[in-house]
Amino acid sequence: MLGGAEEIGANSCYLNLDGTGVIIDAGLHPRDRTLKAFPSIEALEGRSSDILLVTHAHADHLGALPYVMRRLPHIRPIMTHATRDISHVTLHNGARLLRSDISDDVPKEWLEFYDRNVIEQLRYAFEAVRYDEPLTFRGYKGQSDVTATFHWAGHILGSAGIGLASNGFSILHTGDVQFENQTVIPKATFPRHHVDVLITEATNGSVESMPSIAEESKRLAAYINSVSERNGSILIPCFALGKMQEILVLLYGLMRKGSIPNLPIHSGGMGVKLNKIYDQYCYSDPMRRPGFEVSDVPQEPIHRNDLLNGSYMKTPSIVLASSGMLHAGTISYNLARQWMMKPKFGIAFIGYQHPTTPGFELLNSKLKTPFDLAGTRASRSCSIERFRFSAHASREGLISLAHDMRPSTVVIIHGEPDSCDDVALEIRERLPGIRIIIPRLGVPYSIGPD
Ligand SMILES: [Zn+2]
Ligand SMILES: [Zn+2]
Repeated sequence: MLGGAEEIGANSCYLNLDGTGVIIDAGLHPRDRTLKAFPSIEALEGRSSDILLVTHAHADHLGALPYVMRRLPHIRPIMTHATRDISHVTLHNGARLLRSDISDDVPKEWLEFYDRNVIEQLRYAFEAVRYDEPLTFRGYKGQSDVTATFHWAGHILGSAGIGLASNGFSILHTGDVQFENQTVIPKATFPRHHVDVLITEATNGSVESMPSIAEESKRLAAYINSVSERNGSILIPCFALGKMQEILVLLYGLMRKGSIPNLPIHSGGMGVKLNKIYDQYCYSDPMRRPGFEVSDVPQEPIHRNDLLNGSYMKTPSIVLASSGMLHAGTISYNLARQWMMKPKFGIAFIGYQHPTTPGFELLNSKLKTPFDLAGTRASRSCSIERFRFSAHASREGLISLAHDMRPSTVVIIHGEPDSCDDVALEIRERLPGIRIIIPRLGVPYSIGPD
């Protein structure tokens, strides 16, 4: 692992298949801005690296591409068509974040490829592939070929799990995966036959039971009704890529059914650009309702420069704003600080909040009791409710995949230590005989046939 070992970090995994070096993902750490923001390329010293397969366009999987391409100029980055189209939105956003708060010990040349113009050019080096069409890479000096196949992962537009095969040995890397339908995106369609090694994400590994999307929608509708009936507005902090599109369409559905009133929906920033990319793929990529366009959901823009005077401050409205975890300085953070002072208003948290984020601090605050929010004292009068709309598989979903694929080895990544442990325990109990690895950063493991 070059990153993302026992955490959701600078996700990146290196595999050496009979001499061919395959890197899966090149993520930027969601919070760390030191050297650890990037995958540890140093661990590859003396090893070959040939291709870089990207599972999807979230920054924790693709945000370090400019860094990796700067360090390994010969690498071939390969991804699905939609991921390639989304990549520049994610990369420009990542570059903006890096420019604003990267620590001084990060060498300047590491950031050279985050220049606006370079990012625009990098895109031309990205190769795009279709789902389920195997790509073959010739092995060096008579060593075996490697075949890679991207499978639909049901996580966000463009997302893929990656199958690798070399000399009769097979690996499936799940990427970020969801085995249940979301509102826009349908569930993963991975092949369920035997593989030798299953490399699996474990984001929800320690969640005991995941509520269904129908249950959560009902609860969200009830909450929106209760806030809007007392003349308040609802703020929904959400990730711009994936969550924003899912929630927009979910809200639209609730309005059409009459489950919630026709409140104005405000959205803004990066999310609006991403809606358009979703729409470009509404016929060609897997969608719950082919042809439905996210941009068709009536939305009003949020004006970054005039945030606190938006009509949502006076008229009951729904505001979707990133970041999802209220990182300081973002639109959702600045809005939340205003929301907090208004007893009639409400904030609906819809996703995971990492313990070191302002979102976590606010979510765990008590009404009218002072607490720390991003390093300053705060107090809140508005209501808060928590919902679970996950774009990641439940623990049961992961176990069922392992059950069907019967791998000899399972490698557990992309999860907090508890989540990785809980998935490992469950596999040990229900599928005895499988070798389980929770890999550590930079430590090599042998997973091949003896
Ligand atoms: Zn993701
Ligand atoms: Zn991820």
